[in-house]
Amino acid sequence: MSAQRGPRMVLLGKQGSGKGTQGERLAEHFSMQHLSTGQMFRDSASAGVKVGLEAKAFMDRGELVPDDLVVAVVAERFQNPREVTPGFVLDGFPRTEQQALELDRILGQHPIDIVIDLDVPTDVVVERMRSRGREDDTEESIRRRLELYETETKPLVDFYRQRSVLVTIDGLGTEDEVHAAMLDAVAHRFSD
Ligand code: ADP
Repeated sequence: MSAQRGPRMVLLGKQGSGKGTQGERLAEHFSMQHLSTGQMFRDSASAGVKVGLEAKAFMDRGELVPDDLVVAVVAERFQNPREVTPGFVLDGFPRTEQQALELDRILGQHPIDIVIDLDVPTDVVVERMRSRGREDDTEESIRRRLELYETETKPLVDFYRQRSVLVTIDGLGTEDEVHAAMLDAVAHRFSD
């Protein structure tokens, strides 16, 4: 990897698997942006921005925000080279096959380098979400989001495995252990 070229990364994994925390640490490590679609929507909703308020109606119910809305927000960020250079950590996007195809289109000649699937059992993520107590972490929303993870997002594991960019990492270690395993995975990917 040259100095001009950081990893273009996607984090997959259930809600509560630690994508947010680990995504921030990875971004800091590589001096790149951590692009969390959930966080983008929460920020724009609290600032009273229209897309954020539209998204919030879906988020509060644990539903996915419609693809066209999410893709528009992500595409806009990618138009600003500073956001995505030298690389980036995408967290929470793509979450559907349609979004993955749109991401391909956005990235064009420079596809994703590595997709990390942060693997944590469902009972553990449910406990983590209950204890963090975010506004959308109600029992019903937790149940619905995990259901949508299985039907909409989990197929992306195979989608990226077929492209040989997928790495699965055990998300049950300490925060430092998981971070170290992710750095190893990136180093390994770029050593070939
Ligand atoms: P979690 O992974 O715990 O759901 P996020 O912050 O990643 O937390 O996302 C919060 C909510 O934002 C999701 O439940 C969903 O409503 C919405 N959201 C975030 N990213 C996407 C996406 N790529 N597609 C559709 N909806 C999304």
